[in-house]
Amino acid sequence: MDFLVARQRMVSTQLPGIRDQRVLEVMGRVPRHRFVDPALWPQAYSDYPLPIGNGQTISQPYMVALMTESLRLNGGEKILEIGTGSGYQTAILAEFSSRVFSVEREPVLAQRAREILSKLGYENVAIRVGDGSKGWSQFSPFDRILVTASAPSMPHSLIEQLSDDGLIVIPVGEWDHQVLKVLEMRERKAIVDDICSCTFVPLIGEEGWQD
Ligand code: SAH
Repeated sequence: MDFLVARQRMVSTQLPGIRDQRVLEVMGRVPRHRFVDPALWPQAYSDYPLPIGNGQTISQPYMVALMTESLRLNGGEKILEIGTGSGYQTAILAEFSSRVFSVEREPVLAQRAREILSKLGYENVAIRVGDGSKGWSQFSPFDRILVTASAPSMPHSLIEQLSDDGLIVIPVGEWDHQVLKVLEMRERKAIVDDICSCTFVPLIGEEGWQD
């Protein structure tokens, strides 16, 4: 299978509405198949989420592109990602930023993500095992926070760890369906916008859903 061709087809057919050319360019470059089990490589560029073990999934390509575009990255931002999972979204973020911090609850997934990101040459990523609903205060404040698991409400710790003009992208809502939201700080006031409806795996933790 020619993964480059599959990837280019993914970019040209599955990402309607994504206008940020840099996001499209990065999605066309990062080898998504390397973040899933080799048995799933033929499906790695299809328009749906894929299992990555431990009951978790790698998000659909369109959702990855939409979340990345919604972060409005310029290149210099320090980013916190909650829910490393396969590490695919982490790699996309690392293409935009010099510093990406990512928190994953499942040790097995965190370790696998560390290994593949290092094999692919990403040196600007730090991954910690723990409850990301509490953020990663040691390295705060963050200019951008992306949560790739759904929360019942906006976690306060994440708002507290945001820089003055920072931005959070997070799915918030019910257990089985949510709304992807953007929270933006403007003059110390939080402004929240809805992007679209969506379904993510739950954020399990102190400021997420109970286990
Ligand atoms: N961005 C990932 C998608 C992973 S799915 C990718 O591209 O593959 C969401 C991930 O969030 C899962 O791996 C799950 O284990 C993790 N997760 C759930 N609750 C968490 C928490 N409180 N802290 C950190 N990670 C959490």
